[in-house]
Amino acid sequence: MKTNTRTNPDDRGYFGEFGGRFVPDTLMAPLLELEQAYATAEADPAFWEEYEGLLKNFVGRQTPLQHASRLSAQLGGAKIYLKREDLAHTGAHKINNAIGQILLARRMGKTRIIAETGAGQHGVATATAAAAFGLSCVVYMGADDMARQEMNVFRMRLLGAEVVAVNSGSRTLKDAVSEAMRDWVGNIADTHYLLGSALGPHPYPKMVRDFQAVIGTEARGQFMAAEGRLPDCVVACVGGGSNAIGIFSGFVSDAGVALVGVEAGGTAISPGHHAARFAGGSPGVFQGMRTFILQDKEGQAEPTHSVSAGLDYTGVGPEHAYLHATHRATYANVSDDEAVAAFHLLARLEGIIPALESSHAIAHACKIAPGMKGKTLIINLSGRGDKDIGIIQKYTGDKK
Ligand SMILES: *Cc1c(COP(=O)(O)O)cnc(C)c1O
Repeated sequence: MKTNTRTNPDDRGYFGEFGGRFVPDTLMAPLLELEQAYATAEADPAFWEEYEGLLKNFVGRQTPLQHASRLSAQLGGAKIYLKREDLAHTGAHKINNAIGQILLARRMGKTRIIAETGAGQHGVATATAAAAFGLSCVVYMGADDMARQEMNVFRMRLLGAEVVAVNSGSRTLKDAVSEAMRDWVGNIADTHYLLGSALGPHPYPKMVRDFQAVIGTEARGQFMAAEGRLPDCVVACVGGGSNAIGIFSGFVSDAGVALVGVEAGGTAISPGHHAARFAGGSPGVFQGMRTFILQDKEGQAEPTHSVSAGLDYTGVGPEHAYLHATHRATYANVSDDEAVAAFHLLARLEGIIPALESSHAIAHACKIAPGMKGKTLIINLSGRGDKDIGIIQKYTGDKK
């Protein structure tokens, strides 16, 4: 499972000048305990053996790498493959990380899992993994997000999780993160905080990346088996950055493979209308890490917008900031309209309804593929779009 091709942060958790551990003293003890426990697990082959067994039998891995023949023909350029994370249990890549952290929590003797969730996808993955291991689970969710994502709240409760409404601040994801951190500080002895993306304070960005690296490891092997060479380009959407860093990690040491992250361009690249940190952001400190964030002149977090809840976040995972700074990866953005058009295109051409997050990667691939004749491209299809059909219905209605 482990490869020696990934970039590891330094001892203080920095990827170049990004990352670190910007937390109050009270959070240092649990973070150091977690770092130590993960270092021990990481070096233990039995840990990865159990993880891989669960990914196979519970999650349904490996997920296919499918040649998208009709999409490729339609665009008339690159031969396009889809890495089908939408076929993983619970419908997205998030379960890979939830399973890894649940196994670690159990090793640490923790009996209680807490998590934050925005749209509810990470909450559902966490509640799923906690149920499968008989651990109690509390999910913090902004009150406004709970109203918007009723079905996921119901799903989490069906799985035995307690969903706690957060009424502070903007009543959305960043307030839920703060609430989860507060809970953790007060319940360190029996509680593990299961963070949902490759971000936050060290060791989360590296640990979550390692649990998502299975995507890149599989995709590289599957592509080599199909084509006998490496792809020219890998495209993935970037919210916090976990699905993208997972697939990138399989190719990051292959200089000939272009890595492209796609952020949410929203309705316009102007404050409050998008979530493209590399287009409209700058370096700063946010929720435990130094990275690219959307901030005003005073360093206050700016509001964000995206049609896709999973990409709608102020900060990006620090390893992406590092790949951006070192020019190993490039970052593009597509608008809400372009993502929605790509959503419809994939449904009609390939019989796959993609998540709106993943639709951003598809939309960008649609722009570059026509100019890539004779070349190959992998799109990471991070999740399925069943959760988004209500949003699409409303979006189309609003535009009429
Ligand atoms: C949550 C989510 C994302 C965004 O999170 P990353 O950490 O950037 O991967 C992307 N796609 C889907 C389907 C998601 O559920």
